[in-house]
Amino acid sequence: MAYDHDAEDILKPLVFRLHESVPEAVREVLLERGWSEFDEQEQDEADWNLYWQNSPFRMTDHRSIKPWQRLNHYPETVRITRKDYLARHLKRMKGIYGPSLYEFSPVAFIMPNDYVKFIAEYTKERQSQGKKPSYWICKPVDLSRGRGILIFQDIKDFVYDCMVIVQKYISNPLLISGYKWDLRLYVCVTSFCPLTIYTYEEGLVRFATEKFDLGSLDNVYAHLTNTSINKFGASYKKNKEGIGRGCKWTFSKFRSYLRSHEVDDLLLWRRINNIVMLTLLAITPSVPLTSNCFELFGFDILIDDTFKPWLLEVNYSPALRLDCSIDTTVKKRLLHDIIELLNYKQTDTLRENNGPGTKASYAGRTHIPLTTQGENATDDAPNFLASRQESECTATSAVQSLLEVAGGSFKKEAIVMGKMARTYPRKTLTSQLREKMNRPKTSSQSKAASKSKQPPGARHPAHASVQVTHWLPTTELCNYKLTIPPYFLSTKDRRPFPRVGDFVLIFPFNDAALEASRNGIDVKSIIQEIHKL
Ligand code: ADP
Repeated sequence: MAYDHDAEDILKPLVFRLHESVPEAVREVLLERGWSEFDEQEQDEADWNLYWQNSPFRMTDHRSIKPWQRLNHYPETVRITRKDYLARHLKRMKGIYGPSLYEFSPVAFIMPNDYVKFIAEYTKERQSQGKKPSYWICKPVDLSRGRGILIFQDIKDFVYDCMVIVQKYISNPLLISGYKWDLRLYVCVTSFCPLTIYTYEEGLVRFATEKFDLGSLDNVYAHLTNTSINKFGASYKKNKEGIGRGCKWTFSKFRSYLRSHEVDDLLLWRRINNIVMLTLLAITPSVPLTSNCFELFGFDILIDDTFKPWLLEVNYSPALRLDCSIDTTVKKRLLHDIIELLNYKQTDTLRENNGPGTKASYAGRTHIPLTTQGENATDDAPNFLASRQESECTATSAVQSLLEVAGGSFKKEAIVMGKMARTYPRKTLTSQLREKMNRPKTSSQSKAASKSKQPPGARHPAHASVQVTHWLPTTELCNYKLTIPPYFLSTKDRRPFPRVGDFVLIFPFNDAALEASRNGIDVKSIIQEIHKL
């Protein structure tokens, strides 16, 4: 099939659909990349490539996903993003796999249910001779941005009027120039089956804006590191000694700081990566099998003065607002790298069922050259993956016979894809985009045509009563997947990309971990492997 640039040019950009609550930065980045926004008046219901919203999608949205589409949430991930659910899951994992691995989360009690247990612990501590009583932090289970938080040492100061968790307060944080800080680490899961986890190398160090002082527990500017609080502090704009203005550093600056103080930060990051994997393993078996999703989490990590990292919480839809220049640097690049991670192909612009036998759909169109990870991801994958085929999950295997019926066209399709790939120059968009990111915006880029309408998002069912559902992919998706591996695997070798932009693959980390996560998930074997790290 000759591909004719002079033929009738039909430029079809990729299309995004945003819920109105999604921060403007997402729209800006997608427009910078040449995407266009979904227009429900003009376009068909399925004529989009990426749907981004801050709340979970409905089950029907997952079921009706098309091969060219991606959703920015997996179902059931709220199981680690609500403070009480997270505490319960980590407690369960600690009970099963022992405290040596699962002691990264401060002891927590869920109120009112655990009130008696909390009182017992509190009293035991008070009665033990020579031990300084702990400090406690009380946080509403489903609030964020530091709202409703109370820190106390004496139980007479403990009051609550909604469901809260009471957590041991880390009273010996590692301070920088006397200020408390924590890390906002971005984690992207491109698949729960097989489990595929990336951590982002760049991120945010978030500072409190007044010096840490256990004598003033009610001073939120000294004890909480939320930007939403500190940006209103009297010292926010001041040039604070050793910190500077504002309340944020990038991870790059933080790394330089650690190295200048001769700290082995590699060990620290390794311990943090373990926390990420161990936390996600707590919910992986109960995430329903769904296709074409991804989840961006914000992990909040506090480091104490012994260099021990603690997980404070996991954020669903971490804030992508651009509050300062550091946010712009980190978050816009993060968004660009997420889009790279989503690995859109030339054919995704067609938004047609281009499964076997539809190669005519490529004719007569001019495709916008897109960057795919096949072109720009690091290709030197670790050896442990070298002999692996595309991972398959149990439920996918269950529809294998259905897939095989359509299998005859595989080679033909592969040839079409191969020809197309050769037609385009091996040029990536990333470098151009990075340049563009630093250029001032045009008025058309900043104009937000926010007409997209969200299908009403279903409320998440309570985690305790959820049954694990294995949703079979639609036939369309099955046909498509015969010829093209899922987006998170390379078409070249059907392995996860070891690195995409600043995203680094942390799971699977070796052959055994891969093996234990490809047909369902064998948490016990994976944990044994993590033990060996
Ligand atoms: P929110 O969702 O409201 O932001 P977090 O759990 O992230 O709640 O807590 C807000 C801030 O409070 C954190 O960023 C951190 O600075 C501080 N904090 C929370 N838990 C602890 C803890 N156990 N020990 C010390 N500081 C904590």
